[in-house]
Amino acid sequence: MSFIVHSKIGATPLKVSSISKKEYYRKWKEEGRCVNCTLQPPLPDRTKCKKCSERTNAEYQKRKAGRIASQKCVKCSTRKPKRGCISCGHCIKRDFRNYKARQADYQRVREISFKAKWKEPVYQAYGGYRCNCCGQEGEKFLTIDHVNNDGTEHRKEIGKSSWHLFKWLTRNNFPPGFQVLCWNCNMGKRVNRGTCPHKGAK
Ligand SMILES: [Zn+2]
Ligand SMILES: [Zn+2]
Ligand SMILES: [Zn+2]
Ligand SMILES: [Zn+2]
Repeated sequence: MSFIVHSKIGATPLKVSSISKKEYYRKWKEEGRCVNCTLQPPLPDRTKCKKCSERTNAEYQKRKAGRIASQKCVKCSTRKPKRGCISCGHCIKRDFRNYKARQADYQRVREISFKAKWKEPVYQAYGGYRCNCCGQEGEKFLTIDHVNNDGTEHRKEIGKSSWHLFKWLTRNNFPPGFQVLCWNCNMGKRVNRGTCPHKGAK
């Protein structure tokens, strides 16, 4: 495959076949150039310059209007749009699937970075991923426990999720009064009036 590359202002366009278009796109993005004209800097957080994105948008709007007028799906332009919509059922489903997948990816990335920033330091400060009562290991089995059983009150104050607690502990320099417990010991402690049944019934 070959395509035309407009490399510099005034220069004769190069015909490129050795490098894929994708690689050029990446290169231009890195160099801070519009991927369409490669002459202007792109708009902030975009890949195209103002002129190019305006033009692409205008073209898109025109195409869209034409498809709506001819009763075709604005996405695939072949199937009939769903009643009350501008795209067909097939395209709606596909877009929704893609959207869901993107959301899931985004969620995963967010979780990983949150974990590194807020969760890891808290567990390290309170003795690592190991239950302070029974010794159960494994991150997913564990939770941060309020030693004096005032967790409900505290959570009301700082927010319900464990992220709120992680942030609060970090910002308060990991104060005493907290420990790592497994869910089992945590629950046992709750139903046994503040002492885990491992340590004797009350
Ligand atoms: Zn441009
Ligand atoms: Zn369609
Ligand atoms: Zn335990
Ligand atoms: Zn226990």
